[in-house]
Amino acid sequence: GVRVRFCPSPTGNPHVGLVRTALFNWAFARHHQGTLVFRIEDTDAARDSEESYLQLLDSLRWLGLDWDEGPEVGGPHAPYRQSERMDIYADVARRLKEAGHAYDCYCTNEELEERRAEARAAGRPSGYDGRCRALTAEQVAAYQAEGRPSIVRFRMPDRTITFTDLVRGELTFTPENVPDFGIVRASGAPLYTLVNPVDDALMGITHVLRGEDLLSSTPRQIALYEALTELGVAQAVPEFGHLPYVMGEGNKKLSKRDPESSLNLYRERGFLPEGLLNYLSLLGWSYSADQDVFTVAEMVERFDIDGVNANPARFDLKKAEAINADHIRRLDPKAFADACEPWLRAPYAPWAPEAFDEAAWQAIAPYAQTRLTVLSDITDNVDFLFLAEPVHDEASWAKAMKEGSADLLRTARARLEAADWTAPEALKDAVLAAGEAHGLKLGKAQAPVRVAVTGRTVGLPLFESLQVLGRDRVLARIDAALA
Ligand code: GLU
Repeated sequence: GVRVRFCPSPTGNPHVGLVRTALFNWAFARHHQGTLVFRIEDTDAARDSEESYLQLLDSLRWLGLDWDEGPEVGGPHAPYRQSERMDIYADVARRLKEAGHAYDCYCTNEELEERRAEARAAGRPSGYDGRCRALTAEQVAAYQAEGRPSIVRFRMPDRTITFTDLVRGELTFTPENVPDFGIVRASGAPLYTLVNPVDDALMGITHVLRGEDLLSSTPRQIALYEALTELGVAQAVPEFGHLPYVMGEGNKKLSKRDPESSLNLYRERGFLPEGLLNYLSLLGWSYSADQDVFTVAEMVERFDIDGVNANPARFDLKKAEAINADHIRRLDPKAFADACEPWLRAPYAPWAPEAFDEAAWQAIAPYAQTRLTVLSDITDNVDFLFLAEPVHDEASWAKAMKEGSADLLRTARARLEAADWTAPEALKDAVLAAGEAHGLKLGKAQAPVRVAVTGRTVGLPLFESLQVLGRDRVLARIDAALA
């Protein structure tokens, strides 16, 4: 069966590129009823952090992604944190050396740099030149007597490596372009170049789906895999599929340092997990030519690697928001009201906790549901209900309280005072009649009323808002605006 893996390094905050990779692997596994292995590549003690690791778990759980083997769930290939697998890598490195697939390299950084510069000047490939490939026992003894540190280097075969990328088709790498590479540091710490394919082999990974930025490591991994197969560590070389780059603003590659690539940003703005997943799945894949809003289950049903596009994907915030808005509308009313909860409380909500009125919220929520693009918009939309006074935004007040507005407001107040408050229709008629008395259409007549009562020029349907706020508070706010 299909066995795929998601194997992030726990550094920094979870970002869009990382989650897109997780999602594609997850969807591929689910579509094929395969297994998703979640492995933590924490062999770089200087960069990895426990906090990043915990954030990553939390983000994946929030999105609703699950895994069949890995942290918190265990599995037959445990442990799934590479920091707990060091003995395995040391053993494999030793066997690779014994079999002649790897060797100790004593070249210093200065020497390497010097030879690289020479090669470049002469127009030759500037990768490792193989100097330590065949050291004699005397040379080794001399280096060791000098106290020189050594790294372990993998010996690339002197032949072209060709593979069929699941996304990009056939790719060929010639030996000049893939020099011997380090697999263990002088300190004895194994490198990504070793631990990643070793674990893929030991964990029986059948398909490696990952970002295009890792494409250059693939020929090395294939060569290493072949050596591992010879040693009996690996069964078969997996298939590789490289997911397209995600481009951000100005058509530049979206980097994990760009603020808009931070997953937490979308979460705090109130993207629904299913809305964000829907959008992220479109970064390099399409559901169908004429539909881009779908459920997670629908995605899983259709998702396959042949639908992944090799061209760079563009991160389009407007589209992400539009898709999210669609998912918000699809929620059942109770789920919508619950989903808004965090943004109706501190630290998002500016009102005192005791000012929150559950009944008023329940009454207004249905009108808000069709208008939000992200859940955090809810705070500004309903603050008129819970703040003692409406917000005072100078520009909005100036715009609505033009000449003649005071007269209109006085008339509207009188009409509203006399109106039947059991139906929003009656409140609308009151404002309509006030407008007519001043030669104003409804739109123009309701603007000053809205600002006087809510402090804003735009918001939820006005007459429903007035009704939920209640007659006394509405009249008092109009009085305050007129004072
Ligand atoms: N730990 C690697 C990374 O986060 C994994 C790359 C891969 O999928 O092979 O970049």
